[in-house]
Amino acid sequence: VKSYRHSIEMHTEEREQVLDITERVQEVCARSGIADGFALVCSQHTSSAVYISDNDPALTEDLRRVLAQIVPEGTVYAHDLADPKGNGHAHIRATLVGLSCSVPVTNGALELGVYQTIYYAEFDGQRTKTVLIKVIGE
Ligand code: ZN
Repeated sequence: VKSYRHSIEMHTEEREQVLDITERVQEVCARSGIADGFALVCSQHTSSAVYISDNDPALTEDLRRVLAQIVPEGTVYAHDLADPKGNGHAHIRATLVGLSCSVPVTNGALELGVYQTIYYAEFDGQRTKTVLIKVIGE
């Protein structure tokens, strides 16, 4: 079993923003030389998430609206008493969405469903962050 590791840098203009990273993950997958296995795509932070969903901007907005309803900004979170960034809501939103996803790799390419897109969800951005991609297989 071989493994290939590569980090990609993320920088969002908005504090909260969702980016399609499918192509960037595919490039790493191709570079890995691994034909059959899986790719683990993992946020290296606790205020950003990685998830797979439908490639529909309206659905992305729906997710953001639902997260804002169940984890509102402006409520006092215990974490905010210790972290001057006031990003308690960002940590909780990232935890709910999930920090990583894994995708099958077949014939050297990501084997995603027709409508599946890999997204990076930033909840406390405007600074450089990293997503670690690890491709494991043969
Ligand atoms: Zn914090």
